[in-house]
Amino acid sequence: MPVKDYIKDAGLKFTGRPKKRNATNGIVLHHAAAQQASPRQIHEWHLKRGWIGAGYNILVRKDGSVWELRPLWAVGAHAQGANSDSIGVCAEGMYHPSDSQAFDRVMPKAQFDAMVRVARDLLREYPSIIWIKGHKEVPGAATVCPGKFFPLDEIIQAVKDYTVFKEVHSMKKGDRGNDVQKLQKVLMQLGYPLPKYGADGIFGDETLAAVNAFKKTASLPQNGIVDTATMLAIIDAVGAGKEQLEKENAQINSGMQTVKKELVKVLELGTNAEKSITQIREKIKSVMALPGL
Ligand SMILES: [Zn+2]
Repeated sequence: MPVKDYIKDAGLKFTGRPKKRNATNGIVLHHAAAQQASPRQIHEWHLKRGWIGAGYNILVRKDGSVWELRPLWAVGAHAQGANSDSIGVCAEGMYHPSDSQAFDRVMPKAQFDAMVRVARDLLREYPSIIWIKGHKEVPGAATVCPGKFFPLDEIIQAVKDYTVFKEVHSMKKGDRGNDVQKLQKVLMQLGYPLPKYGADGIFGDETLAAVNAFKKTASLPQNGIVDTATMLAIIDAVGAGKEQLEKENAQINSGMQTVKKELVKVLELGTNAEKSITQIREKIKSVMALPGL
């Protein structure tokens, strides 16, 4: 369900007109750094800083309610360097240990679920989003936000589980459409002929056999499923083939190299939250969009 269908209007009055955001590439997660924070309180705090009003776009309270602070379409004031191309989502609570104030060690389930839901729905609504980060992970940020006890990795993992694998990935027998057709073209290009049906956009037995033949050479389980691991192996194989054509087709090759480099970057981030499958999905999309496929 689009966020706008359940987000609540806090009726905040801004002292100036928020600027329209022209790009939406990411989501930044924050905590309010206060155990209790209503939309109005956050608005007041940010007005006192001399801002036009609340800086986050969305507030998720501990009861799971979701509130619009600065409009969803507007440039926020929540993470320097990322405001112009991201949506700021704040969780009520103080999720970092503190000597001077009470803090939260565990996020209530209602709030956790609402955070996941909001991020998931934003990903659907804004297909341009390719990253989700905690505030402290934004390059140049000098903050502990969203805090040591904020379940950052868990939220991101849950978003991935719900969104990416179910909606974007895994092509299998019986599937049909544009993506299947692209897959078939790539398979043929890699030397797995589809003599009877060709690239007909239908994942039938012939495509299944080609997929399994490819997966065998890539040392992947021959279960006929084109999952993330299979797509990454295909990208590698296409890249290897392209390298041989370097002189003949430098442009495609350099495109492939860029994508490969990006992929490696994503994969090397290890446990960092930025190792997000949504990024891999984006890279796969750009590979599929390259000329010649
Ligand atoms: Zn923050």
